[in-house]
Amino acid sequence: MADKKEEQPERIIDHPHRRPQGIGTRPPRVDNLKETLWKIWSYMAHEKKLFFLVIIMVIISSVLSLLGPFLLGVSVDHVIETQERDTLLFLLLFLVFIYFFQSAATWLQNFWMIHIAQNTVYSMRKKLFSHLQHLPISFFQTYKHGELMSRLTNDIENVSRTLNTAVIQFATSLLTILGTIGMMIWLSPLLTLLTLTVVPFMYFGMKWITNRTGPYFREQQKELGKMNGYVEEMFSGHTIITMFSQEERVIQEFKEKNERLKKAGFWAQTYSGFIPKLMNMLNNVSFAIIVGGGGLLALKGGMVTIGVIVTFTTYSRQFTRPLNDLANQFNMILSAVAGADRVFQIMEKDIEQKDEEQATDVNAIVGEIEFRSVYFSYEEDQITLEDINFHVEPGSTVALVGPTGAGKTTIVSLLSRFYDPDKGQILIDGKDAKQITRKSLRDQMGVVLQDSFLFHTTIRENIRYGNLAATDKEVVEAAKSANAHEFITRLPDGYDTVLDSDGKGISHGQRQLLSIARALLANPSLLILDEATSSIDTITEIKINDGLKTLMKGRTSFVIAHRLNTIRNADLILVLNEGKIIEKGNHQELMMVDGFYADLVRSQQGNVS
Ligand code: ADP
Repeated sequence: MADKKEEQPERIIDHPHRRPQGIGTRPPRVDNLKETLWKIWSYMAHEKKLFFLVIIMVIISSVLSLLGPFLLGVSVDHVIETQERDTLLFLLLFLVFIYFFQSAATWLQNFWMIHIAQNTVYSMRKKLFSHLQHLPISFFQTYKHGELMSRLTNDIENVSRTLNTAVIQFATSLLTILGTIGMMIWLSPLLTLLTLTVVPFMYFGMKWITNRTGPYFREQQKELGKMNGYVEEMFSGHTIITMFSQEERVIQEFKEKNERLKKAGFWAQTYSGFIPKLMNMLNNVSFAIIVGGGGLLALKGGMVTIGVIVTFTTYSRQFTRPLNDLANQFNMILSAVAGADRVFQIMEKDIEQKDEEQATDVNAIVGEIEFRSVYFSYEEDQITLEDINFHVEPGSTVALVGPTGAGKTTIVSLLSRFYDPDKGQILIDGKDAKQITRKSLRDQMGVVLQDSFLFHTTIRENIRYGNLAATDKEVVEAAKSANAHEFITRLPDGYDTVLDSDGKGISHGQRQLLSIARALLANPSLLILDEATSSIDTITEIKINDGLKTLMKGRTSFVIAHRLNTIRNADLILVLNEGKIIEKGNHQELMMVDGFYADLVRSQQGNVS
């Protein structure tokens, strides 16, 4: 029934490992990079001290990783020069210590960072979930459930994974590269220049490959998304497919999609498979350049020592690998930030309007309702309800009748204060509804929808949802009054039967009986009933009607009626069309008028028994 007012957010299919890797790849786009980073930082508020310690550890481990190869070179030179064993042993022992401390520092930084990441995403999840509980229903009509689930789980998990690993690795890679280049220049600018000659080849080689893989990877993701959607649709529509004998066509369509995915995947993987080979080859070339070039420099009047060559061979490896990783880590961070941005966007959605300042709680409602010249529209240029006027005595039953889209649900939404009128007034027990807090009003209202939601728990708990303080005995009493007791006790596990959230295992009519029991337990002063449209067997229907009668006794009830034969006894029937009340009265009065309602009754008499 919802018009999709807001733009539908794009479906998120995020498979970082399937993306092209390395330098030269296009980083993901993040619109509010600075603000989002700032917001993530604010979630790490309690962890700032620990984060500072992590940074120190990152610096220590990076410095130690520079010191190791340097000492190795010094040891080699020392042996060549002095042939001395003791100092060499000392240097090598020192080297072992350095590597040990480097590992310890890396371990510590990981350990602390995991702590920070888990705490950060814990608070993000908590805040997002509690925010979702306070969003207006219009929000849930706009966003798909899968979309919200994806944000609660995937996007936040992505932030966690990135904080756990990528952030530290990125900082370490950056420090290592800068430090290594610095050390190399300090040791021998000439040999540094020779070592760096491979870098442009790496850069352009990678760029060449990723330019080719990029479109295939995008194609692969697109095809994968399409295929997932298709499979999902085929599963949910399986009954229809079988009924219409469309199995062969479905298999053929799937085959075509599968074929396209295979083709895209083949080329994406083939090209990207070259990347490690290219890097390996260029690493070996750089090795040869250092040894060859360094050897020449050493021979030419000792411009470098053998130790320096040894140091350089390690440094060159230490520096090309992070160079490649850097791009991946950067992309990973950006993709996590983009995910976090999506999460924050939801968190910034307006919470349901605040109650007016002078609004007070109501403890009990007698049930006198009046709509006074109520106007309402969802969209600015289109009036949904126009000049609605009616008055309801406490304890009476009001039926809302009219074609789909006439405004029946909207009247009920206004009464529940999910929206407020643009003009006019709604009076509850003579008091302006705006003067009553939303929560206390809804506490007095009970709703039985034709598709009442059942939670994935026992029947007993599902009924108890109406009043959490109810005892087991009261639950059974409510079920008895709702005519649900009989079918419940016939189930193998009785009241302990666990239901699926989509209510599998019990019939549509039985679901309604449960929701009647739930409403009975809640004991509301005001009732809203959305009458079932789907056909229910006659026996269950009689039970439902009986249950409803018990439920409606003494309470002001609004029934959204689909079948007119069930509302003959209503005290007031409001006939709506295109947002206006066109007829008003009880069944006899309206039949006498012989207008829209009488036509509707006559047209349904042919269809409904
Ligand atoms: P009924 O219950 O009689 O079928 P509704 O009250 O659901 O009718 O809808 C009345 C009109 O308001 C329809 O034209 C419908 O499209 C529109 N409408 C209902 N809900 C929304 C919404 N959340 N946003 C925008 N328009 C809506």
